[in-house]
Amino acid sequence: MRIKKLPENIVNKIAAGEVVERPASVLKELIENSIDAQAARIVISVEKGGKRLVEVKDNGTGIHPDDILEAVGRFSTSKINSFDDLFFISSYGFRGEALASISAVSRFSLISRQREFSLGKELYIEGGVFKHLSDTGAPVGTTVRVRDLFFNLPARKKFLKSERTELSHIIDVFHRYALYHSEIHFELYIDQKKSLILQPETVEDRIKRLYPKVENLVYFEKEAPEGRVSGYYSPDYQTEKGFIFINGRPIKNAVLKKVIRSLLGNNFYVVFLELPPYMVDFNVHPAKIEVKFRKEAPVYRLLKEAVNRSEKPVFHLSQPKNSYSAEFKVLGQIENTFIVVYYNGDVYFIDQHIASERINYELLLKKYRTSGLDKKQIKPVKMTVDSLQKEKLKELKELLEKAGFTVNEENSTIIITTVPEGAEERDIRKFIYSLLDSETPQFEIESFLGEIACELSVEAGDILHEEEAKSLLKIWLETENPNLCPHGRPIYYKLPLELIKKKVGRK
Ligand code: ADP
Ligand code: MG
Repeated sequence: MRIKKLPENIVNKIAAGEVVERPASVLKELIENSIDAQAARIVISVEKGGKRLVEVKDNGTGIHPDDILEAVGRFSTSKINSFDDLFFISSYGFRGEALASISAVSRFSLISRQREFSLGKELYIEGGVFKHLSDTGAPVGTTVRVRDLFFNLPARKKFLKSERTELSHIIDVFHRYALYHSEIHFELYIDQKKSLILQPETVEDRIKRLYPKVENLVYFEKEAPEGRVSGYYSPDYQTEKGFIFINGRPIKNAVLKKVIRSLLGNNFYVVFLELPPYMVDFNVHPAKIEVKFRKEAPVYRLLKEAVNRSEKPVFHLSQPKNSYSAEFKVLGQIENTFIVVYYNGDVYFIDQHIASERINYELLLKKYRTSGLDKKQIKPVKMTVDSLQKEKLKELKELLEKAGFTVNEENSTIIITTVPEGAEERDIRKFIYSLLDSETPQFEIESFLGEIACELSVEAGDILHEEEAKSLLKIWLETENPNLCPHGRPIYYKLPLELIKKKVGRK
């Protein structure tokens, strides 16, 4: 066979396979376009899990009447001019292939009008085949209607899941953008019924509106030359749910997620990273949901510092630092597990074990970073390693030394003769192997220190006298992050007196 160029409509169908996986991916692209067009109001309608219809209507800038056809052309974009622009993208779009791809695999209509024109244009394309283009009366802005996705690709259509599953993906996409863009008015209609109307509001209010299970939100932020991290977590909402945004894009990144979980445990979270464009590459996936970092370590460090500086709602201080003890009143201990404290109109239940764990963890961490942890002789542990693991060990030797491990090498065997004090009972072999395979060894070591801290701490069930409780609380309040234990569990629960009053009907 001779070589020939594929016709454009086949190219578009192939490309559609990368950008358009399911109705939710259509929604994602359309919402992004509306936001790029500075819409203040976005109205979304879906039918049958988006399989029958995904419609997005906005009041943005609209498309110039002479550019309508251009908009659905492949690699047609108004958002970049040169290759270099790729490194300084502030818009969601830039590849100029979403509309071309979507219109190749659906019954597609686009209506748009710009403010300067009295009439708009309406374009209709079916399975990549141009049907008509005409003048039409329309409000300023753009409406895109995508019907019968994959009607011309039965094999792809079969891969779509049930309406319910597709709808859950749609809602997920909707939540991500609605959450980040709390300044935009959003409406969502599902099968012609009103599902959600969101007025412009603060991010915090938007989070609470989308996730009613969130009661308290703890804010954190940190700015450094490498970038800025901010976000929230909810100590009273334990869930798999969490959102990461980088430069406004909702993204997925397994390693980053793991790092966040190691800091915030199972708490609901929203994390915003603002990084200079050269630090991240979004152009690794057509739908731009995966990212690559130029360097990962500074990103993780920033994140960790941000979380550790999180707002301290307990005894949040505008007073001078040393006045805590005068301010709070220890009411007692319950079940030899919780210290109950009254402070400034709220009652706090503080888990004595995890508060103490936080204290010990920070002490260990400090020692690990400065003079190194105390070493404890153990019965030598032998492990076989392959050449890759051996290389990794070389890189980690200094860190391990500081963490109290003495590691000797003999060909393909390593022998561990000391461990940090408090770790004698732990499965050292398992820890070292996981460290050697880890992409984030620094975090593995720190979370190991968290486990040791646990062993060294006051137990649940230990009786504490008032003075002991007070001194524990005092030291705990001086820790960098009194909110969470090293594994991310919340340390205390706050019961506002206001709430108690409301519950018993006292004004
Ligand atoms: P990209 O977003 O990567 O530029 P798309 O295929 O998604 O590519 O869109 C192509 C072009 O169509 C955009 O660059 C933009 O100029 C125009 N466009 C698409 N949707 C809208 C919209 N909702 N409002 C205004 N212009 C739009
Ligand atoms: Mg786009």
